[in-house]
Amino acid sequence: MTGLDDDIDEVLLTQQAISARVGELAAEIDRDYADREPLLVGVLKGAFPLMGDLARALQGPAQFDFMAVSSYGSATRTSGVVRILKDLEGDIAGRDVIICEDIVDSGLTLSYLLRNLRARGPASLEILSFLSKPDQTRVHVPLRYHGFAVPDVFVVGYGLDYQERYRNLPYVGTLKPGLRAG
Ligand code: 5GP
Repeated sequence: MTGLDDDIDEVLLTQQAISARVGELAAEIDRDYADREPLLVGVLKGAFPLMGDLARALQGPAQFDFMAVSSYGSATRTSGVVRILKDLEGDIAGRDVIICEDIVDSGLTLSYLLRNLRARGPASLEILSFLSKPDQTRVHVPLRYHGFAVPDVFVVGYGLDYQERYRNLPYVGTLKPGLRAG
């Protein structure tokens, strides 16, 4: 079996660039939550490398929980309905919550999560999105923390998959033409 690197067309974000940016984001969170203990909610599966890196870079007290949501199909895309596959383990009422997502594209997933988690009465609720695509015309979601903007192309690596593959690439890149259907 050949390496995953062989399938990559262009590296958009190197491992070094990602590591430096995650360090900066962790420092921002440490500063903003100096007198509070934030609860970082990772959205599975894409946010798992980010959560691990953030966890190691944060210096202050922080707690971690995870949710898994379904990707909407074409029928649900316009309605913004997202199904919760795995819910949080803990109660977030009164907590300072930061939702951590891999990428925001249409904004539907995050706007659903915002509504859903806001209804549970957290003391505060912010969003960290590692990546963003330029076309956020559909729904505006306020990103308190943001890693990088990427062009409107399909990217893989650092948690992002194509058919469950490439999540373990330590960088973000595009797939060679012909490897992805559609
Ligand atoms: P949104 O709800 O903002 O349209 O989409 C967010 C979700 O779509 C992400 O959590 C991710 O699962 C998926 N997604 C959006 N763009 C990409 C991409 O370029 N590559 C991959 N692998 N997934 C993407």
